[in-house]
Amino acid sequence: MITARVWREKKPRYLNQIGRCKGCGRLFFPPRRVCDGCRGREIETRAMSETGRVLTYTIIRVAPPAFAQEVPYAVAVLEMDDGARMLTQVTDVAPEDIRTGMRVRLEFRKIRQHGRTGVIAYGHKAVPE
Ligand SMILES: [Zn+2]
Repeated sequence: MITARVWREKKPRYLNQIGRCKGCGRLFFPPRRVCDGCRGREIETRAMSETGRVLTYTIIRVAPPAFAQEVPYAVAVLEMDDGARMLTQVTDVAPEDIRTGMRVRLEFRKIRQHGRTGVIAYGHKAVPE
Protein backbone atom coordinates (compact mmCIF):
# COMPACT_ATOMS: atom_id res chain seq x y z
CA MET A 1 0.00 0.00 0.00
CA ILE A 2 1.35 3.43 -0.90
CA THR A 3 2.36 5.73 1.95
CA ALA A 4 -0.16 8.48 1.12
CA ARG A 5 -2.99 5.96 1.26
CA VAL A 6 -1.77 4.56 4.59
CA TRP A 7 -1.94 8.04 6.13
CA ARG A 8 -5.24 8.94 4.48
CA GLU A 9 -6.88 5.76 5.78
CA LYS A 10 -5.27 5.75 9.23
CA LYS A 11 -8.09 7.47 11.13
CA PRO A 12 -11.02 5.56 9.59
CA ARG A 13 -9.20 2.26 10.01
CA TYR A 14 -8.44 2.86 13.69
CA LEU A 15 -11.92 4.21 14.45
CA ASN A 16 -13.69 1.75 12.13
CA GLN A 17 -15.43 4.55 10.27
CA ILE A 18 -17.40 3.74 7.18
CA GLY A 19 -18.61 6.04 4.45
CA ARG A 20 -22.19 6.01 3.20
CA CYS A 21 -23.16 7.57 -0.12
CA LYS A 22 -26.08 9.96 0.36
CA GLY A 23 -27.07 9.39 -3.25
CA CYS A 24 -27.46 5.62 -3.42
CA GLY A 25 -26.78 4.40 0.12
CA ARG A 26 -23.71 2.32 -0.76
CA LEU A 27 -21.30 1.68 2.14
CA PHE A 28 -17.51 1.80 1.96
CA PHE A 29 -14.72 0.79 4.30
CA PRO A 30 -12.59 2.77 4.50
CA PRO A 31 -14.63 5.82 3.44
CA ARG A 32 -13.94 7.19 -0.03
CA ARG A 33 -14.45 10.57 -1.63
CA VAL A 34 -16.41 9.40 -4.68
CA CYS A 35 -19.04 6.66 -4.73
CA ASP A 36 -18.08 3.86 -7.10
CA GLY A 37 -21.77 3.09 -7.58
CA CYS A 38 -23.28 6.42 -8.64
CA ARG A 39 -20.16 8.68 -8.76
CA GLY A 40 -21.76 10.83 -6.04
CA ARG A 41 -19.50 12.99 -3.91
CA GLU A 42 -21.73 13.43 -0.86
CA ILE A 43 -20.35 10.81 1.49
CA GLU A 44 -21.25 10.80 5.19
CA THR A 45 -19.02 9.12 7.77
CA ARG A 46 -20.34 6.94 10.58
CA ALA A 47 -19.12 4.24 12.95
CA MET A 48 -19.15 0.69 11.64
CA SER A 49 -21.08 -2.05 13.45
CA GLU A 50 -18.83 -3.99 15.81
CA THR A 51 -20.54 -7.30 15.06
CA GLY A 52 -21.16 -9.22 11.89
CA ARG A 53 -20.58 -12.55 10.19
CA VAL A 54 -17.92 -14.31 8.14
CA LEU A 55 -18.82 -13.96 4.47
CA THR A 56 -15.82 -15.91 3.18
CA TYR A 57 -12.34 -16.76 4.45
CA THR A 58 -9.04 -18.38 3.66
CA ILE A 59 -6.36 -20.02 5.77
CA ILE A 60 -2.88 -18.50 5.38
CA ARG A 61 -0.18 -21.17 5.59
CA VAL A 62 2.66 -19.30 3.86
CA ALA A 63 2.77 -15.78 5.27
CA PRO A 64 4.83 -12.66 4.68
CA PRO A 65 7.90 -12.55 6.98
CA ALA A 66 6.21 -10.27 9.54
CA PHE A 67 3.43 -12.82 10.12
CA ALA A 68 5.39 -16.06 9.58
CA GLN A 69 5.26 -17.04 13.26
CA GLU A 70 1.43 -16.86 13.26
CA VAL A 71 0.71 -19.49 10.57
CA PRO A 72 -1.72 -21.02 10.09
CA TYR A 73 -4.14 -18.13 10.53
CA ALA A 74 -7.43 -17.11 8.96
CA VAL A 75 -8.20 -13.97 7.01
CA ALA A 76 -11.87 -13.29 6.31
CA VAL A 77 -14.19 -10.93 4.51
CA LEU A 78 -16.74 -9.91 7.12
CA GLU A 79 -20.18 -8.52 6.48
CA MET A 80 -21.00 -6.33 9.43
CA ASP A 81 -24.55 -5.97 10.75
CA ASP A 82 -24.87 -2.56 9.05
CA GLY A 83 -23.91 -4.08 5.69
CA ALA A 84 -20.33 -2.77 5.51
CA ARG A 85 -17.66 -5.25 4.49
CA MET A 86 -14.09 -5.48 5.68
CA LEU A 87 -11.09 -7.80 5.39
CA THR A 88 -9.45 -8.82 8.65
CA GLN A 89 -7.81 -11.63 10.55
CA VAL A 90 -10.01 -14.00 12.57
CA THR A 91 -8.45 -15.03 15.87
CA ASP A 92 -9.24 -16.82 19.18
CA VAL A 93 -10.57 -19.78 17.19
CA ALA A 94 -8.77 -22.68 15.48
CA PRO A 95 -8.67 -22.02 11.72
CA GLU A 96 -10.38 -25.37 11.02
CA ASP A 97 -13.34 -24.33 13.18
CA ILE A 98 -14.14 -21.17 11.20
CA ARG A 99 -17.26 -21.37 9.03
CA THR A 100 -18.99 -19.03 6.63
CA GLY A 101 -21.88 -17.35 8.41
CA MET A 102 -20.11 -17.56 11.79
CA ARG A 103 -20.97 -14.63 14.08
CA VAL A 104 -17.98 -12.44 15.03
CA ARG A 105 -17.24 -9.17 16.78
CA LEU A 106 -14.30 -6.81 16.32
CA GLU A 107 -11.65 -6.34 18.99
CA PHE A 108 -8.67 -3.99 19.04
CA ARG A 109 -5.59 -6.21 19.05
CA LYS A 110 -1.86 -6.22 18.39
CA ILE A 111 -1.28 -6.73 14.69
CA ARG A 112 2.51 -6.90 14.53
CA GLN A 113 5.72 -5.73 16.14
CA HIS A 114 8.42 -4.22 13.99
CA GLY A 115 11.64 -6.17 14.45
CA ARG A 116 14.34 -3.57 14.89
CA THR A 117 12.31 -0.72 16.38
CA GLY A 118 9.96 -2.80 18.51
CA VAL A 119 7.10 -0.50 17.51
CA ILE A 120 3.80 -2.33 17.95
CA ALA A 121 1.03 -1.82 15.39
CA TYR A 122 -2.57 -2.27 16.55
CA GLY A 123 -5.74 -2.80 14.60
CA HIS A 124 -8.99 -4.72 14.56
CA LYS A 125 -9.32 -8.48 14.46
CA ALA A 126 -12.47 -10.57 14.49
CA VAL A 127 -13.20 -13.01 17.31
CA PRO A 128 -16.13 -15.41 17.73
CA GLU A 129 -19.15 -13.61 19.21
ZN1 LIG B 1 -23.60 6.31 -4.57
